[in-house]
Amino acid sequence: MSEDMPGIAARTWAQVADRFPNYDLVTPETPSFVCLTGECPVHCCKRFSVSLGERERDRLAAVHGIAPGEFLEMVDGEPLAMPLAQPFLLARREGRCVLLRDDLLCGVHQGRPDACRLYPHFVLFFERETARPNHADTEGMRAAMHAALTGEFDAMPYVPLLVRHRECPGFVGPAYGERDWRALFAETARLQYADGAPGWPE
Ligand code: SF4
Ligand code: SF4
Repeated sequence: MSEDMPGIAARTWAQVADRFPNYDLVTPETPSFVCLTGECPVHCCKRFSVSLGERERDRLAAVHGIAPGEFLEMVDGEPLAMPLAQPFLLARREGRCVLLRDDLLCGVHQGRPDACRLYPHFVLFFERETARPNHADTEGMRAAMHAALTGEFDAMPYVPLLVRHRECPGFVGPAYGERDWRALFAETARLQYADGAPGWPE
């Protein structure tokens, strides 16, 4: 019997899992994610800094009608900008994102950065022969996602794996099931790598 995508993913994850101790593979059998929000003992909006790019900065400002100076880390009146693809940082005050409301819900849910939409899921890509990670060949990653979602595994240049951050305690729902797992897999990869580019597999 030929292997299916969850089978390929499980075999590849067995090769690389030791190098990613903070992550677990997400399969159709994984309990689904339900954000615990105010009940969460970890609360990612307090624990982690969030980086974002220009497109996300502009979206957040436009959707919520607030100036970037109100939500970005600033230095001498200018946004702190690092030489990275996601150069800006959401401002933090008193150990939490400045946009987190007092009721511990996001104050900008509709326009929140992609990192907040992604979390706690991520897609990682690995070369098929060597299981080395790849995060630079965008066209190859797009082709890999298309192949993974259509079952054309012979044309899959990398193995894409849907993983979750272990620190998030929100995996308490019913198992994803095949259909929801595939939708989550595609949406996570699109958010993480497409950066607004059209043509990513849905
Ligand atoms: S750590 Fe997970 S469950 Fe907790 S607030 Fe963040 S996303 Fe929700
Ligand atoms: S923008 Fe919203 S979801 Fe993102 S860290 Fe801030 S409060 Fe949390």
